[in-house]
Amino acid sequence: MSYVSLYRKYRSRNFAELVGQTVIVQTLQNAIKHDRIAHAYLFSGPRGTGKTSAARIFAKALNCKKGPTPEPCDECENCAKIKGGHSADVIEIDAASNRGIDEIRELRERVRYAPLEGRYKVYIIDEVHMLTPEAFNALLKTLEEPPAHTLFILATTELQKVPLTIASRCQRLDFARLKLNDIKGQLQKIAKSEKFQIEDKALELIARSAEGAMRDAISLLDQLVSFSSGQITYDDVVTLLGTADEALLFGFADAVAANDPNQVLALVRKGMEEGRSMQQVTRELVFHFRNLMHLKAGTGEALELTTDQLQRLGEQAKKFSLERIKEVLRALSRAELDMKWHPYGRLVLEVALLELLEARQADAVAKRVSESDVRPVIATRTSPPPNETPIAAATAGHIPSDGSLAGIKDHWSAILENMRKKSIYGFVSLHEGEPIELAQSGKLVIGFRKGYSFHKERLEEAKNKEALEESIREVVGHRIPVECIISDRPNSPTLSVNSVAEFFNGKVV
Ligand SMILES: [Zn+2]
Repeated sequence: MSYVSLYRKYRSRNFAELVGQTVIVQTLQNAIKHDRIAHAYLFSGPRGTGKTSAARIFAKALNCKKGPTPEPCDECENCAKIKGGHSADVIEIDAASNRGIDEIRELRERVRYAPLEGRYKVYIIDEVHMLTPEAFNALLKTLEEPPAHTLFILATTELQKVPLTIASRCQRLDFARLKLNDIKGQLQKIAKSEKFQIEDKALELIARSAEGAMRDAISLLDQLVSFSSGQITYDDVVTLLGTADEALLFGFADAVAANDPNQVLALVRKGMEEGRSMQQVTRELVFHFRNLMHLKAGTGEALELTTDQLQRLGEQAKKFSLERIKEVLRALSRAELDMKWHPYGRLVLEVALLELLEARQADAVAKRVSESDVRPVIATRTSPPPNETPIAAATAGHIPSDGSLAGIKDHWSAILENMRKKSIYGFVSLHEGEPIELAQSGKLVIGFRKGYSFHKERLEEAKNKEALEESIREVVGHRIPVECIISDRPNSPTLSVNSVAEFFNGKVV
């Protein structure tokens, strides 16, 4: 016998089995009980929340030999045919597969015929927002004058893409994302009846990673079963998902709290060595800090977490101010977005985390400086006289450059060194570029290879640009404006991306 996926095997057969959509179930059952069935329904909601299952159950409830009934028997001839997908009266159209042109045309021709076996002809159109404008028009004409024995169930994950003319002719039912405990409960049920051994922590992680989509959770369980031969551990889930485990997440947050860049970089490296996806790790970090934020703000009960997790998070939350947590969340969310188009997720995460620590260090330095202001004698002595330019100090040991392109190139390492002192992140980005032209406009053009636009854009940020122009001035003697471009020219060997972590590791204090 061929293998039936767990998702198909445990697909809800009746309303009682449809998990987590009580309002919808009640609405549909009442429609049948009170004989107030609409001509068209629009099921909207995220994927994997039971829209298609609910549509099929509703079709069975209407056409069941013992019906119409609020709960179909699932055994009679009609129910069996609908379940097997070969009922002549229940027609499923997947608008995503070919945008529905032929199907809708056929639908318009055949919609007038009475149902053959059951009471209703039910058209289930999945991902209805994918229909072409022509198909939508054809559908609209049908919806305007629906035959009495016909019922439409339109399902969509993107409600905003369904034309209002269509949506307004349907009774809309919104499917919610499933609650963590609902998903967990269903997984437990499946594990029990399939006789899988599965750790509770593993169940928890599967349910959490599914983000409210039952189908995703069950598919993941299916994969895990073949991956781990019947005995599923938390580590199996972590390995398969490429997610960060809890130790890693708590470790990151501790390192950020302690302002420890070495520890942060060591954890990124550990994550890489364990084969985790940096995007996934960043996402989980966002969730972790979101949890901390809720605990800090006193809204922890809203989180779907175990008592043990809540307690540990509560302890960790004490190490942060609410403002600091928000700062971390902003930086991590930005990093997560940046990663979508930047090829080196690791670098993006490292820079984001180190920048957070740098900001904190800058605050600490500022605090020390303002404390030293209390003792004016020392402060005056250590500050340079106001009119003295720092050129002499910065270029000590260098012959000043003549300001030509060749001169700038000759002194590029001195410029880089100045940049390193002003902005370590600007420095890393500058390292990935090279001076290629002194344009007629007087601008120094710095070229970056394709795929390095992340560095180009970072260097173009006002504070880094300012730092660079100042670094050049300190070497050349006058200010040269810079312009960054993406260039096809091969760059000379630069700092490799993999060595960035080692670089930071050695140099960041
Ligand atoms: Zn039946």
